[in-house]
Amino acid sequence: MTINKEDKRIYSDEQYKKKVTAKIKELQKKRNAIILAHNYQRDEIQDIADIRGDSLALARAAIDIKQETIIFCGVLFMAESAAILNPDKLVLLPVKEAGCPLAEMATLDKLHLYRKQYPDAAVVCYVNSPAYIKAECDICCTSSNAIKVVKSLSNKQVVFLPDRNLARYVAQNVPEKEIIIWPGFCITHMRVKEEEVLKAKQEHPDAELVAHPECEPEVLQHADCVTSTGGMFSYIKSSPKKKFIIATEKGMLYGLGKENPGKEFFLPSEYLICANMKLTTLGWVLHSLENLVYEVTVDKEIREKARLSLDRMLAVK
Ligand code: SF4
Repeated sequence: MTINKEDKRIYSDEQYKKKVTAKIKELQKKRNAIILAHNYQRDEIQDIADIRGDSLALARAAIDIKQETIIFCGVLFMAESAAILNPDKLVLLPVKEAGCPLAEMATLDKLHLYRKQYPDAAVVCYVNSPAYIKAECDICCTSSNAIKVVKSLSNKQVVFLPDRNLARYVAQNVPEKEIIIWPGFCITHMRVKEEEVLKAKQEHPDAELVAHPECEPEVLQHADCVTSTGGMFSYIKSSPKKKFIIATEKGMLYGLGKENPGKEFFLPSEYLICANMKLTTLGWVLHSLENLVYEVTVDKEIREKARLSLDRMLAVK
């Protein structure tokens, strides 16, 4: 059974969805809470979100939040960013196990080794990293602003962590810098295979290939557009094309379909599912609101240092 079929088995009950959604909305008011959701979340979670977006959009949105409680439907590093930017708010991650394997590939020991080995290099960390790594780097970036961030630095050498494919993509686009590539990777985007992309292109010859920079270079070389999930929304909205092959997590297809009636979207593989992103269900969001769990906090010293790295990123125009 594929995860897709399993989703349907559990979530096809419209009445259940309606009931839980109504309860969530009621409690959300009572708790003065806002729901943020990443573009890779389940369809029904995207539907209840007050704000849906990519890491950068959600980080920016988190700065101006008026509500006392933030329910972050995503993975831990994203909720940590919201907690760093909103130290006085209650930030809740509905499923405490929702982590990101890529973020966990960034370790402090290794970062200290790189610092020693490349003393003149700036350290840029992708937001997909733990708060304690953000605290030790010079500036953060997301997949939508990584090139701009690296270009903005005066250092010739840049240690880029933790995603190797995003680092390679940056290196290609900023040839004037020497990019030292950390060997991390996203297990979801690694599942996009070149042969599948070529097959999808053959099946849909009039479709454009839009790919996330966490995909392997063999895949990116065939893309018409390489961009973040937020960038995909803008690109597709303004494109005169009607068909798109989307090389990223499956959750994107829901939002793209809703926002672009009349356009068609295809995945190169049915396995492009981030199991961590899919852990959050309506039931867990309700549980989170009912019990005010699971609180995400970041130690003050780490928070203040990590905030500097995030602020430097947000200041890059
Ligand atoms: Fe992490 Fe990849 Fe899942 Fe995003 S899609 S949360 S980078 S494992």
